[in-house]
Amino acid sequence: MKKLLSLFVVFAVVLSVNAQELPNVVILATGGTIAGAAPTEVQSGYQSGQVGVDILINAVPQLKEIANVSGEQISNIGSQNMSDVVWLKLAKRCNELLAQDDVDGIVITHGTDTMEETAYFLNLVIKSKKPVVLTCSMRPSTALSADGPLNIFNAVAVAGNKESWDRGVLVVTNDLIHSGRAAIKGNTTAVETFFSPLVGPLGTVNYGDINYVDVPDKKHTYQTEFKVDDLTSLPRVDVIAIYEDAPGDLIKASVDLGAKGIVTSGLGNGNLTDACVEALKYARSKGVVVVRGSRVITGFVGRNIELDDDALGFVASYELIPSKARVLLRLALLQTQDPTKIQEYYELY
Ligand code: GLU
Repeated sequence: MKKLLSLFVVFAVVLSVNAQELPNVVILATGGTIAGAAPTEVQSGYQSGQVGVDILINAVPQLKEIANVSGEQISNIGSQNMSDVVWLKLAKRCNELLAQDDVDGIVITHGTDTMEETAYFLNLVIKSKKPVVLTCSMRPSTALSADGPLNIFNAVAVAGNKESWDRGVLVVTNDLIHSGRAAIKGNTTAVETFFSPLVGPLGTVNYGDINYVDVPDKKHTYQTEFKVDDLTSLPRVDVIAIYEDAPGDLIKASVDLGAKGIVTSGLGNGNLTDACVEALKYARSKGVVVVRGSRVITGFVGRNIELDDDALGFVASYELIPSKARVLLRLALLQTQDPTKIQEYYELY
């Protein structure tokens, strides 16, 4: 009996030493397909945000081998309904947790629809070198070949790894590690949907085995001046689509409805119809900041190409797609309305 007891003590000590050696990773769940459920395993119709964080964690028992994992539910929504309220709650909770010595990294589960925006927002407002990793799935947890469990496993591995420190907010999906600034959704249904145009991924992760090949090329997280601690709202910035014969009245409406900034999803190198240029002059006359972006998903929108940005007071989005250019403009507007200063942000961040 005594022998049995001492064996038990040794076993318990080994277990607790192991638990101490593993990194502490907190999973913050927001919803999305990764927490979605469908009535059958081969059905494309389903509801996002049906499964809670504990079920997500318990579905991947292998997590216990690589990290001490705990979970918190921030929201449970399809990411088409992501909102400023959830963004601010998420960012503030991340900053709180990352300030704790007993937290080594964070994984955020998120829908794919707006993950490129949330990832970039957090990349600009989180104040820590510790890893924050967004992950997702394209298939609901009830589907054949659900991709969520391996994505969560890989995301936790990345969040718990020292090599992930000081790389900004990361996006892990389909065996790739992307920077939160670069990653965009590129396919409506395929598992291979996220890619990083122009810069490529920062690394790979294969069943938890991590191989970094790059570091982010822009300033991020603690290197920016954007802070959310005291923030309760963000300025309104609208994205306006430009197309053949696009009229200017939607731009005028946006200004009259109170937008503080407008990002155009323009043609080619951020080009605009003459009617839209006229409407954007009206926007400028009302102090609204205008950022010229492009509906073309890869490439660089340069200044003063076919339009005189200097004379018009426009900002060029450089390599940010309109959804990401909007995120940066909303934070920039908290600091300044000066287009020259705001153009510098597009260079820096
Ligand atoms: N609408 C879902 C969402 O963004 C679908 C995308 C997904 O998670 O795959 O939450």
